[in-house]
Amino acid sequence: MSKYFLNRTIRISLLVAVILLVISCDQNKDKGIAMDDSENTNVLLEEWTGPYSGVPAFDKMKLEDIKPALEKGMALNLKEIDAITANPDAPTFENTIVAKEKSGEALYRVRRYYGIWSSNVSSPEFRKIQGEMAPKLSEFNSKISQNKELFDRIKVVYDNSLKNPLEDDQQRAVQLIYEGFAMNGAELDAEKKVRYAAINKELSTLYTNFSNNILADEENYVVYLNEDQLGGLSESMIKSIAKIAADKGQEGKFAIPNTRSYMSPFLTYSTERSLREKVWNNYYSRGDNGDEYDNNENIAKILKLRKERVALLGYDNYADWRLQNRMAKTPENAMQLLNAVWPAAIGRVKEEVADMQAIANSTGDKITIEPWDYRYYAEKVRKQKYDLDSDEVKQYLQLDKLTEALFFVAGELFNNNFAPVPEGSVPVFQEDVKVWEVTDKTSGEHIGLWYLDPFARPGKRSGAWATTYRGHSTFDGKKNVLGSNNSNFVKPAPGEALLISWDDATTFLHEFGHALHFFSSEVRYPTLNGGVRDYTEFQSQVLERWLSTDKVINQFLVHYKTGEAIPKELVAKIKKSSTFNQGFATTEYLASAIMDMKLHMADPTNIDVDAFERETLAELNMPKELVMRHRTPHFGHVFSGEGYATAYYGYMWADVLTADAAEAFAVAPGGFYDKELASKMVKYLFAPGNSMDPADAYRKFRGRDAKIDAIMRDRGFPVPD
Ligand SMILES: [Zn+2]
Repeated sequence: MSKYFLNRTIRISLLVAVILLVISCDQNKDKGIAMDDSENTNVLLEEWTGPYSGVPAFDKMKLEDIKPALEKGMALNLKEIDAITANPDAPTFENTIVAKEKSGEALYRVRRYYGIWSSNVSSPEFRKIQGEMAPKLSEFNSKISQNKELFDRIKVVYDNSLKNPLEDDQQRAVQLIYEGFAMNGAELDAEKKVRYAAINKELSTLYTNFSNNILADEENYVVYLNEDQLGGLSESMIKSIAKIAADKGQEGKFAIPNTRSYMSPFLTYSTERSLREKVWNNYYSRGDNGDEYDNNENIAKILKLRKERVALLGYDNYADWRLQNRMAKTPENAMQLLNAVWPAAIGRVKEEVADMQAIANSTGDKITIEPWDYRYYAEKVRKQKYDLDSDEVKQYLQLDKLTEALFFVAGELFNNNFAPVPEGSVPVFQEDVKVWEVTDKTSGEHIGLWYLDPFARPGKRSGAWATTYRGHSTFDGKKNVLGSNNSNFVKPAPGEALLISWDDATTFLHEFGHALHFFSSEVRYPTLNGGVRDYTEFQSQVLERWLSTDKVINQFLVHYKTGEAIPKELVAKIKKSSTFNQGFATTEYLASAIMDMKLHMADPTNIDVDAFERETLAELNMPKELVMRHRTPHFGHVFSGEGYATAYYGYMWADVLTADAAEAFAVAPGGFYDKELASKMVKYLFAPGNSMDPADAYRKFRGRDAKIDAIMRDRGFPVPD
């Protein structure tokens, strides 16, 4: 179809937020010097062997190997750095930057396994090791980022490059590495460096505590229902919550766990208002219950330490420091975007609440809409206004067919071919993981492997994410890409089709967008694969748009029994409902994004986190009928690490580009399959990674900067003058 139409699903993108934490690992080094030849019996440290230029030995992972492997990997990396700094020759790009790009290969390999344990196959035993290793890894990072001799050499190369410029991508690599060091305390004097490292170590423990407190509140609060309290719930949900109760020793009851994947459908469908309130309260009070798992104190400490750390570097606040090398550049630029959309979002909430209240009144429910009513009555409005039955849509969304759709889109836009590797030829960490070989459709040239881990299981974290086991680079011989996508679909019975929701299908494409970003990389140096946090969601968000193109609909959105394509009327209904509930989705997101930024621009000296949240929301005129998507005490993006601290705005920043780029396809002669525009997109927005300034790259693609208009149209908001 000539125009994309579906719900932008900022919601979805947020569900998969954590991915970037994983993606960010890709910025780490990709290869290194040869290992010590002595006593290398630890399989996690070993070079990858086997087919496809070597693949991780996922079938040989043993938990007892991880700690010694990490320790040895760190020691080896430090040795490599020592070799660079001990070089008697004057610093050059080759003997300093290239040498650094090559270093850390063994540790990089160990960390791939560590990541699998942490995200895909976790256990209490692993988490114990993780708790022990987090501060050690932090100390190790400080040892490198604060290595004066190393930084001095980098600075010489950088200063020389300003006088005698290197090739463009080399110049950019030097600049990014130099800035990375400067931003992380390399220029501080000895005394300040000690304090800097101590702060980071303390933070690493606070981050772990923060996450564990949320986990504890998710595990400790369960709402049990009796058989007469199941009104409104679907058969599949009832089955699932009966099993959870039985597993918890409450046979005959029904358990609602305190997680988003149960809270959200329960609040949408349950007719039991007082139970909705209870479930809502448990969920939005995580980390805020005034007990041993309360996070308010942790947050205050984190904010103070972050502020103290950036003050050592001469910055006013954490946000100024963090955004300097983002696309937004300054917190003011980011806030300007958030503030521009906010009035339209809360204006829409007013209309949505009025619609919901009217339905409540007409059905005789004597209530005023409260936050635990929003999803429930919104669903009623959706049925009434759009007559869209999500169960009907599901019948046309089979995971296998959608996987074929991904390959089709990759073939059309990226000229990639995906073919399953022979069963058993590539080791996997779990039998459900499947592997495909990616090649160039025209030349047949090998590009890499795509690993898909589709199903939920104990020990796997929730949500969906993408990561690489090996990134592309050519500076030291061409490296093929090992990329992976991970989801949490419920595994169907053998031979049964797995039907998923429209939202989940969108997320499936989203993650594949990250994977295509990995596979299309053409950078020379590993550092240039590094993402810019407010830009790397663009590549994934934009791919979501292909789900609703005619070619995908007609070939792959077919009924799981009859094989017939999804009816035009149903597609029309989906299209019509695309802006539905955007007041809710945009407002809950923006409230969190604004809070993230304001918390880090404020003076934390005497901060009362709870009061700060309340007062900030009051100033914003936050509608009382909904809450922040992530309230501060459980805002894991921001406080369980630094990956998304003052970066939550990035989803909307990237979505401005996404909406604007999608409009370019909508009007292109070949629509979403326009060859010329697609190749421009791959060339400028996917392949260069961070070897080109993202704003310049976007201008090359679009001929101008992105405008806010498209995102406003997408969400059904008025376009500002
Ligand atoms: Zn993403």
